[in-house]
Amino acid sequence: MPPLEIWTAELVHPGDRARPDYGLLTDGRSVLGWGPLEDLRRDHPSARLRRLGAYLGVPAVNAHVHLDLGTGPVFRGPFMDFVFEAVFPLSEARGLDLARKAGRAAAQPALGDIVAKDPRTLEWWLGEAPFAGVAYWEVLGIGDRAFEDRILAETRALVRRYRRYERPGGPRLGLSPHAPYSLTPRLMREVVALAREEGLPLQIHAAESPDEAAYFRDRSGAIAAFHRQKGVPDDLHPVGLSPIEYLAELGVLEARPVLVHGVQVDEADVRILAEHGVRVVSCPRSNVNLEAGLPPYALYRKHGVALALGTDSALSGGSLDVRDEVRFLLERGEPAALVFDAAVRHGRAVLGLRLEPIEAGAPLQQVEFW
Ligand SMILES: [Zn+2]
Repeated sequence: MPPLEIWTAELVHPGDRARPDYGLLTDGRSVLGWGPLEDLRRDHPSARLRRLGAYLGVPAVNAHVHLDLGTGPVFRGPFMDFVFEAVFPLSEARGLDLARKAGRAAAQPALGDIVAKDPRTLEWWLGEAPFAGVAYWEVLGIGDRAFEDRILAETRALVRRYRRYERPGGPRLGLSPHAPYSLTPRLMREVVALAREEGLPLQIHAAESPDEAAYFRDRSGAIAAFHRQKGVPDDLHPVGLSPIEYLAELGVLEARPVLVHGVQVDEADVRILAEHGVRVVSCPRSNVNLEAGLPPYALYRKHGVALALGTDSALSGGSLDVRDEVRFLLERGEPAALVFDAAVRHGRAVLGLRLEPIEAGAPLQQVEFW
């Protein structure tokens, strides 16, 4: 019989919660069991002890990413500069090839990926990509009623067509109405209604940049300027609200969408999210690179709003490895057990995945450590 080893790390997550002073017993091939470190050492005094680092347990998941923006160099600067200088130039190229390439750089086995422009990316994602999670089709646009009707009809047809590619137990199709300011109120409401009707998961970017907050507050900032330049009527969206209040007024939060970012929020906003049972995906490195600041994590904790973690695109986040978000938050003094729970437990909940405990007998490869 191969010699026994006891593996441990600062936090150990066998599948229920992250705990300190915990470990696993292994013969080098399989998980033989989990337990308090003290008990394992007492019961197996000849087993070699391996201290592995920050984490040992169920793998983390990346709850928000844009594979189809590729892996190109990280952008640092305000959000709308990022849109103009990094996202818009990729408009033509966004699609299956970039998504495949970025998919090879994605470090986690489960992703929440926003898919834009190229439906072939959905076919790949749902039919053959090696990920669990959700491929969210992105919908956005501002126009008249005929425009809204056309986008809705196209989205409906796309949902009908691509749901057929879902494999039993495999990744799911979702919808992502992009952001409060980038869809007309009616289009936002109707896309959310369609998702409810079809039972599709939803992700919406919300309260990300200071410019988004300024747009809804008093039509100031770079998003308001961009809308004016495009001829968007000044009264398209209400004014004097926060982005979260706007989504609540629109009835969108009743559908319990997952919101991404949630940086520009005050306590009243966080209370609204808590009341609606809305979960948030935080992408802290992207927020800092795009000069948005960091979400008020203590407020989210105070009101019991569940936070998951995502990298956002490699262009704003810097890598497609959610463990880099964990390290980033730990370096900033966020409580370790909660940060790991965000990456492991809430990430799965956001993507509709179950947190499966790693049982005795499971191959050791199922255990992640870093
Ligand atoms: Zn995003």
